Amino acid sequence: MAPYAPPPPLSRRLVTLTLALAALVSPASARKIPASVTPISRDLYRPSDTLLSEIKALVARNPDRLTMDTVRAGNKGYSAEMLVVTFNHVKKTVHDGSKIKILLSFGQHGRELITSELALSLLYILTEKRKIAGVDLSSFEKILEHLVIKVVPIENFNGRKRVEAGEICDRRNGRGVDLNRNWSVDWGKKEKDYNPFEEDPGTAPFSEPEAQIMQELSKSFKPHIWVNVHSGMEALFMPYDHKNTTPDGAPSHLMRSVLENVNHRNFQDSCLVGSGGGAVGYLAHGTTTDYLYDIAKVPMPFTFEIYGDEKASTDDCFKMFNPVDKITFDRVINKWCMAFLILFEEGLRTLPDDQVVSQGALDNWVPMGGEILERNMDQKSGGENGKLEGLDLGMQELKTYFRLFMLSTFLLMFMFCSRISKNRSRDSDEQSTA
Ligand SMILES: [Zn+2]
Repeated sequence: MAPYAPPPPLSRRLVTLTLALAALVSPASARKIPASVTPISRDLYRPSDTLLSEIKALVARNPDRLTMDTVRAGNKGYSAEMLVVTFNHVKKTVHDGSKIKILLSFGQHGRELITSELALSLLYILTEKRKIAGVDLSSFEKILEHLVIKVVPIENFNGRKRVEAGEICDRRNGRGVDLNRNWSVDWGKKEKDYNPFEEDPGTAPFSEPEAQIMQELSKSFKPHIWVNVHSGMEALFMPYDHKNTTPDGAPSHLMRSVLENVNHRNFQDSCLVGSGGGAVGYLAHGTTTDYLYDIAKVPMPFTFEIYGDEKASTDDCFKMFNPVDKITFDRVINKWCMAFLILFEEGLRTLPDDQVVSQGALDNWVPMGGEILERNMDQKSGGENGKLEGLDLGMQELKTYFRLFMLSTFLLMFMFCSRISKNRSRDSDEQSTA
């Protein structure tokens, strides 16, 4: 399913191949989806540009809670842009350093459009919406004051564009790499049923700009909870993906208990809970979650699978990964918005105090060679004002080098002068004794 793809049957491979060939011989506007395949429902799903514009308007309307950055990174002629929205409801009574940091990433796979719609709905709930399906949310208001939440609404913007242009079965980025196989833990290992149409890991770990940006986010933001949101089935996953076990020890038990509580409170225990590799039945290598747990030491890295139509035929990808009617669409969005609020509450209650002490800058996360394209500067908190941009970082390094240069020059001059004065005094001694 979503981040862990089994090989598609021959029919789907043929469809994918046909679509790829069609893409080569015809312009995007002329691409046709076979009649048996459900097209993207334009009534329910916003085009990616509209979705991002709506989020930017929401940020502009709520400067006391939301800020945003657009970052670009690239290599070898390929570049990717990413919008990152930060929710931080600043209150004098709650210090930023004591807040729980959460990162939520949506749209890592192009064809899973529903996930980015969920991102937008969640941002509305964090700011302007006070109810979900008639349920009053005011009891969560206090919890939100203790959180900093970063939301990446569309991680794989280029891949999503390809899907919108007709490649509805594609989950990879703009140059054909699966962003959930491009991370460094157990990278590049291929199972017997490996299928490059689905899970090409790239030329090296973090070869992809999108993965580089997300890695920098994990290093600088240092979240306590990270949720990688996918679709294709319904499940609440924890590490590992590359083996069929969960990690040992108390931190692992905490993760599991948080997921089980979310499952119990919000899904009447109907969701699959466990390790990605164990619960799905096949292993995935180089995934985001496994890196976050093993390398970035995020205490609670999860993968949420929010929807899947198991009855959809394997080439009917829009239907397989996304609700196609309004009732199901609303039900999925409402149910999972609630799941996040409960997760926040459980995380706040469960995370040990010694893990909640924040370290590191909140926003210094532009990868080497990357740049910030857009940033709204109407920011209130001290942490936010302390941001360093990529260019500032460069200036800082230059200043450090300059200081080192000046110091070594001074030392050399000092040594030179003291040598001269020694020689002179020796000469004068020699002269006087002569
Ligand atoms: Zn996925």
